[in-house]
Amino acid sequence: MKYHPFVIPFSIGLAFVILYIVGMWTFWIIRLSRREQKIVWKRLFSFRTIEAMWESMMEGLFHRKIFKKHALLGYMHMSLAFGWFMLIVLGNFESRLYPHGNINPPFYPIFFEFFRHDLSPLREYEEIFTFLMDFFLLLVISGICLAFFKRIKSRILGMRRTTKHILIDRIALTSLWFIFPLRILAESVTAGLYNTGHFFTNFLGQNVIYNLPLDQLYYPAWWAYSIALGMFFVTLPFSRYMHIPAEILLIFLRKYGVKEKEAHSTFTKIEQSACSRCGICIDSCQLSTDLNINDTQPAYFIRDLRYSQPNERMRETCMMCMRCVEACPVGIEIAAMRRNERREHQIFSSTGYEYLNGHTYPKAKVAFFAGCMGHLTPSVIKSTLKLFDAAGVDYTFIDKDGSICCGRPLQLGGQEKAAKQLIDKNNTLIHNTGAEVLVTTCPICAREFKQNYHLNIPVLHHSQFLLQLANDNKLKINKSELNIAYHDPCELSRGLGITKEPRELLEKVGNVVDPTKQAKNNSLCCGGSLGITNISADQKKAIAASTINQITNSETNVVATACPLCKKTFNSAQDEMPIKDISEILVQNLNHTDSKNPAQVKESKVTVSV
Ligand code: SF4
Ligand code: SF4
Ligand code: SF4
Repeated sequence: MKYHPFVIPFSIGLAFVILYIVGMWTFWIIRLSRREQKIVWKRLFSFRTIEAMWESMMEGLFHRKIFKKHALLGYMHMSLAFGWFMLIVLGNFESRLYPHGNINPPFYPIFFEFFRHDLSPLREYEEIFTFLMDFFLLLVISGICLAFFKRIKSRILGMRRTTKHILIDRIALTSLWFIFPLRILAESVTAGLYNTGHFFTNFLGQNVIYNLPLDQLYYPAWWAYSIALGMFFVTLPFSRYMHIPAEILLIFLRKYGVKEKEAHSTFTKIEQSACSRCGICIDSCQLSTDLNINDTQPAYFIRDLRYSQPNERMRETCMMCMRCVEACPVGIEIAAMRRNERREHQIFSSTGYEYLNGHTYPKAKVAFFAGCMGHLTPSVIKSTLKLFDAAGVDYTFIDKDGSICCGRPLQLGGQEKAAKQLIDKNNTLIHNTGAEVLVTTCPICAREFKQNYHLNIPVLHHSQFLLQLANDNKLKINKSELNIAYHDPCELSRGLGITKEPRELLEKVGNVVDPTKQAKNNSLCCGGSLGITNISADQKKAIAASTINQITNSETNVVATACPLCKKTFNSAQDEMPIKDISEILVQNLNHTDSKNPAQVKESKVTVSV
């Protein structure tokens, strides 16, 4: 077996990183709950494993999701990951084809050209290997040049700003950037002396650096290359590069059905390590784009969670709008992690919701809940009920006498115990009406009822229910020339995935125009979010004004919302553009000739299909 002491730094680094990763993976897996471990074992030998392998390859090597965000940024990540992977794989093939003893120590393929100066025993493969090794080396170098360029001019790679890194990240990053230039140097010096390279390293060795004292540079170059590799491996587990092995485990666990729970768990730790601190979430956040708050986004929140404890500002400065969740190429459940962190710091004061005990409402097929946001925008309630009357809906208005909150703001703020009290009271209220369906105008409430109430009746947002009525011909709407810009509320689009129904409904009234890519799952927040309490009213208005500006153009006549809070926030930020709830636009275009006397209509039956 060939050996030289310069391989020691590399070998120590490699041994350390392998032991650390295997140790961490084992530790994480045995720390999963019994239920999670059962799920993993049950699904291990299923199609999900193949899907996870495929996803690991597409994301880990080719960075498919980053490509979708920006081609050059995707290329940068892909060239580094795929290029390096190919160098390792080809190096292994090459060294195994070369006749040598039975043992192929890990350093041998990596430093193959140091040990073998006569490549002729590889026969016809020599040309292919030396060419491919040079080609993939160049591919990696192109990625490093782009990464370096990104630090200076990130916008060319589609990023407004890059993440500010901590010391250990900088050390790891510097050693990574040095690895490949040093490899080129070592291989070019060797190629200059022994003709072991191809178009790139031979050219450098024999035409560019041939005047240098190559024989004196030979050993230092290989030592430096080995030290850079060793240094990167030793720093990897403690830096952002731990995301490489952690993301693979995360992909598999996610495919088997493991996810964030209602409190931090081992899965949270895996997600923390899988965050690459790429900074894509910073760019997607309106706190950054509209208010220039650039230090509380998930890249930093998760970093603090991994190394210490996020402070109050870090924990609370977030609208919980989930735009970053949508943008994150690793698919980290960022909102759930932040909610759990808030939950851990909840201060419970028993506020008491006893006053709700006295409320009873008539029984009906449909229970309508306006919520506190609904009561703050009475015009939305009025128009929705007018539409119900026109369609003859048998409904009961369960919070008619006062604004009852659904509990969502408490949930967003991590006030779990107080929310639980409220949920219990509301559950009784809803149950006593005997309703077959619950309808709400507020997406915030709709999400809360769906996800945290365990009601045994369907919950519909009013856009879904009104569309049913229109499609069943219970509501007759006139089509007009209105150009409508529809704003997807975050709780409705990202939260519940409801983007089709509001548009279909609005198409019955006018033309829905989308002059922006900021729609559906990528929609902008109105800024009025209940998930943030530490930005000022003016800062909220700045976000709202910027959102209106981006989703409208000179053709737009009206902005339609499907969320009372959005309507209120948009209206308080500007008065040039009319802002209306979907129900208000429908009422204006109701075909009155078809609308019956409400008294008669009340008696007609509506079939509730869900
Ligand atoms: S949370 Fe996602 S988008 Fe943000 S830095 Fe981490 S990996 Fe990148
Ligand atoms: S949830 Fe919204 S506000 Fe919070 S960090 Fe993500 S994008 Fe920014
Ligand atoms: S009010 Fe609407 S848009 Fe604003 S944060 Fe809430 S759901 Fe999102």
